[in-house]
Amino acid sequence: MKLAMIGFGQAGGKIVDRFLDYDDRTNSGIVRAAIAVNSAKADLMGLERIPQDNRVLIGQARVKGHGVGADNELGAEIAEEDIDEVQNAIDAIPTHEVDAFLVVAGMGGGTGSGGAPVLAKHLQRIYTIPVYGLGVLPGTDEGGIYTLNAARSFQTFVREVDNLLVFDNDSWRQTGESVEGGYEQINEEIVRRFGLLFGAGEVSGDQEVAESVVDSSEIINTLSGGGVSTVGFASEEVDLNTGGGLLSRFTGDGSGDDDLDAANTTNRITSLVRKAALGRLTLPCEIEGTERALLVLGGPSEYLNRKGIERGRKWLEEETGSMEVRGGDYPREKPEVAAAILLSGVTNVPRIKRLQQVAIEAQDNMDDIQAESEENLEELVEDDEDELEPLF
Ligand code: GDP
Repeated sequence: MKLAMIGFGQAGGKIVDRFLDYDDRTNSGIVRAAIAVNSAKADLMGLERIPQDNRVLIGQARVKGHGVGADNELGAEIAEEDIDEVQNAIDAIPTHEVDAFLVVAGMGGGTGSGGAPVLAKHLQRIYTIPVYGLGVLPGTDEGGIYTLNAARSFQTFVREVDNLLVFDNDSWRQTGESVEGGYEQINEEIVRRFGLLFGAGEVSGDQEVAESVVDSSEIINTLSGGGVSTVGFASEEVDLNTGGGLLSRFTGDGSGDDDLDAANTTNRITSLVRKAALGRLTLPCEIEGTERALLVLGGPSEYLNRKGIERGRKWLEEETGSMEVRGGDYPREKPEVAAAILLSGVTNVPRIKRLQQVAIEAQDNMDDIQAESEENLEELVEDDEDELEPLF
């Protein structure tokens, strides 16, 4: 499907930048337009792919291009004040050619955390196409303020979008590596997963027609109904250019091998589907109770078959308990078979409950510290017997 992507804040801008790169590399055609919005000029300048004219600096009157620190209330305020500048950039893109908006932001910071929900609300008022969010949760080692920001942004963002796709930095940190050091790799993981998913609805004329193509409306239907989504992914390298016969081409004999190939293909698909659903999700959660799901199988068409996808789909129905599991293929000439599973409307998410708990503790601590420091300052400045008087 064709998306208008708007990256809000530093993480949002960088991720949209990577999506443009992915689009170029894979010819998937999902990014119809890309915009970056930030209150920090340096972050906008650091982007590589997003066209200069589509980089919008907001809040100049308030923060003079220096960003909002990690103050997401200020981030929300300046987004509201300067929403017209963002709208001007959106006016310049052909929104009639777009299937949906995707607003991307890190939820732990300031500009994106506060601004992304404001923008989503604005877009919902003006446009009839769906507005999706891609929200990134901070690592647990980033500290209380980031957790508090993320918990508050999450609540608000979910309410303002048609669906919030969540990616949790914490569960993607490499052992021994700080989240910061690994952003490049993490961003690549993000675009691979969401790229395969959204690319499925965008099979162009020169690509082979899939046996059972996923189209944009199936992605939209899976995401409709709102709530929170997570994505599972698994892939396996395969050889390209094996032609239709696969093994039989190498062994040179007849139809018996073709049967074997079909069975292999089906088995590969079903095991990839299991790996994708039971492995690391973009937001870790219990998949049982998922409301709707979509299975996309990408790869060279000779490695895809209807039976495998149908089996994978049935298995997902059983695991999730959902009656609405869609599935289809996405042929592409890349030497890998990959399964992406969109689980939409997940509700059993212990990670979010923990995030909220830590956020509440951080909030209480911050209130205590502030009250204490006011008291301490008063004690320092005022003389004990109150004998001195200030000048005015
Ligand atoms: P903002 O510019 O004020 O919106 O804040 P940032 O986007 O810099 O940071 C918000 C949060 O996003 C951080 O707490 C990190 O968890 C996360 N983050 C920052 N940069 C990246 C990135 O390149 N990739 C990912 N996945 N997360 C990032």
